[in-house]
Amino acid sequence: MEKWKTELVPADEANIARAAALLRQGEVVGFPTETVYGLAGDALNPEAVEKIFRAKGRPQDNPLIVHIASMEMLPDLVNNPPELAFKLAEAFWPGPMTMVLPKSARIPDVTSAGLSTVGIRFPSNPVAQALIRESGLPIAAPSGNLSGRPSPTAAQHMMEDMDGRIPMILDGGPCAVGVESTVIGVGEDRVRLFRPGGITVEMLEEICPVEIDPGVLHVVEAGRKVASPGMKYRHYAPKADVKIVEGSFDAFRAFIGRQAGEGVFAIVFDGEETALPVPALSFGAEDDPAAQAHLLFDLLRECDERGAKEVYVRSPRTTGIGLAVYNRLLRAAAFQIVHLDESGVAAQ
Ligand code: AMP
Ligand code: MG
Repeated sequence: MEKWKTELVPADEANIARAAALLRQGEVVGFPTETVYGLAGDALNPEAVEKIFRAKGRPQDNPLIVHIASMEMLPDLVNNPPELAFKLAEAFWPGPMTMVLPKSARIPDVTSAGLSTVGIRFPSNPVAQALIRESGLPIAAPSGNLSGRPSPTAAQHMMEDMDGRIPMILDGGPCAVGVESTVIGVGEDRVRLFRPGGITVEMLEEICPVEIDPGVLHVVEAGRKVASPGMKYRHYAPKADVKIVEGSFDAFRAFIGRQAGEGVFAIVFDGEETALPVPALSFGAEDDPAAQAHLLFDLLRECDERGAKEVYVRSPRTTGIGLAVYNRLLRAAAFQIVHLDESGVAAQ
């Protein structure tokens, strides 16, 4: 891999133009979207796409999402999308929704990881749109973290992971949503949810029936073929051992009291931090999943910085964007869940 002196620059017009020029030359750059920071490359240039995989250390069988900035860019990239795709686009684009559609011959195999489909998204972030328009390219972009690390929700987080690996990161401030896009497979009359995100199941159900792929909430067994390859990776993992804790706050407090020790941290709801005998970070009010989504990856990074060895997390509600929060936590926790009874004792 080339060694770069990575520039972290404000996402103004001049720097967006420079980033677009780099993309046209087949280089990769960091940029903000409304979900998380992304690592951009020309989706139609296999060498540029290979650079994305190398910079992230991403497994080659995990396909990239292709980003567009107008509906006119779509026909070139996909083959005969179902009518439902246009209805969903009308409702939720630009925005944090990725539709998996049959790919056109223009999408290189490396971009779609050999699949016959491609994930397409039209982001709402103005910097993302400007970069796509200015470059004149559909942009392949996974999250801008090293593979396996929490996704970056601020330019500085991306810098921590990508410094020296890429020429430039556009700093457009913190990301509004904080978790990656909703990924859906689109059929004739229904969609299948592969990854929950900012466009929620409840929102999709306003348009059509939604089937939730078992991989959203359950471990994908080794060797099983999955519809969406990203589901089988551990993902988002901080260095600490993360566990989700189900039960009341009283039970949580009793349980944490027995776990307390060096390197033990808690992630809890607003107002619960001060009642615990371990360092505790709040990821928002219990009934505010949007706040939790916004903060989750930041907090996982902060736990690493503070030397956490074990992190116990209060189990969030799974309605609305809460399902996305829970899905990311499950992967950060490698599906470890502690079930507490009322006295705070873990069920075996
Ligand atoms: P990331 O780019 O890191 O946000 O991850 C992209 C996610 O979208 C992964 O979980 C992939 O499995 C999923 N994805 C991308 N393209 C496809 C596709 N063609 N079919 C199914 N899932 C896809
Ligand atoms: Mg990612």
